[in-house]
Amino acid sequence: MNDRIERLRGGLDGLGAATFLVTNPANVRYLTGFDSSNAALLVARDRVLLATDGRYVESAGRVDGVEVHPADRDVLGWLGARLGELVEAPVAFEADTVTVAGHEALSANGTALLPASRTVLGLRSVKDDAELDAVRRAARVTTAAYERLAREPVVGRTEAAVAWWLEQALHDEGADGPAFPIIVASGPNAALPHHHPGKREIGPGETVIVDAGALVDGYCADCTRTFAIGQLPDELAQAYALCRSAQESALAAVRPGATGSDLDGIARTEIEASGLAPVVHGLGHGVGLEIHELPVLRPRSADVLAAGNVVTVEPGVYLAGRGGVRIEDLVVVGEQGPEVLTTFTKELWTLN
Ligand code: ZN
Ligand code: ZN
Repeated sequence: MNDRIERLRGGLDGLGAATFLVTNPANVRYLTGFDSSNAALLVARDRVLLATDGRYVESAGRVDGVEVHPADRDVLGWLGARLGELVEAPVAFEADTVTVAGHEALSANGTALLPASRTVLGLRSVKDDAELDAVRRAARVTTAAYERLAREPVVGRTEAAVAWWLEQALHDEGADGPAFPIIVASGPNAALPHHHPGKREIGPGETVIVDAGALVDGYCADCTRTFAIGQLPDELAQAYALCRSAQESALAAVRPGATGSDLDGIARTEIEASGLAPVVHGLGHGVGLEIHELPVLRPRSADVLAAGNVVTVEPGVYLAGRGGVRIEDLVVVGEQGPEVLTTFTKELWTLN
């Protein structure tokens, strides 16, 4: 069996479990390569069982080293009725994925269950070479799309139109799709970190925040740049300079051993000391098969960075009602320092 399954097995004793039940679809995919919305993987000491419903049974048959068990659409209900017969207990399950109803279904025949959280997510946070290669390719596609955007006229176009244009540019550059719904936030909307691009027309004297990333071979990229439209009012130009400085300070401190809260604090302190704006979100997050993974970079995060993590560094400066700035890079944590994957310029770039 592959090395990822072996790493998970290696953790069984520490959990006090005989079997690990994986139900988060991204975790199943990480461990087996099997891509399905409805599957349960049972990793026992000596065998691996994959239960999935009829839609996926054929593709499950192509996964090496697993026993395929055709299950009902309600996979947890199906498992709950026979868990004790299939594998040895106690069975650790993913407490950050299984719902209360799912837990009830799994407990139906009284098999001993143990909640475990962040187990496979923890394994996933350190990327292997093939994963790093996919993330690098996703980032290159993303950078190429931003380079196209830099030459594109946007004044008078709506946020939604620009978001759609950028999604097509990602495709043209080789993305399998967007890694998440693209954010284009202009004028006062740029003060809203999770704005959905709408019908607002982009105009002069404002900032436009563009947050986008390509999905390539299952791996995500994540990048934000803030553009100027025409001449910016002083406070937005100041917000840009502050955000860039805070972003670069935090970025320079990315290294194995740094904690998520340390890094967050570097950018947060710099922005708060300016008195320009409060800090309204954490500094960043891990990225991989999913757009939000471990480690987490925010206040009180005890996550410790390790070589091979892929994280974002994305402070924002938001002036309520007037506009905002966010700058986000995707970086690989390395022994020799951070490897920045999103290389589009951070000089203030003006769009027409
Ligand atoms: Zn982003
Ligand atoms: Zn992000």
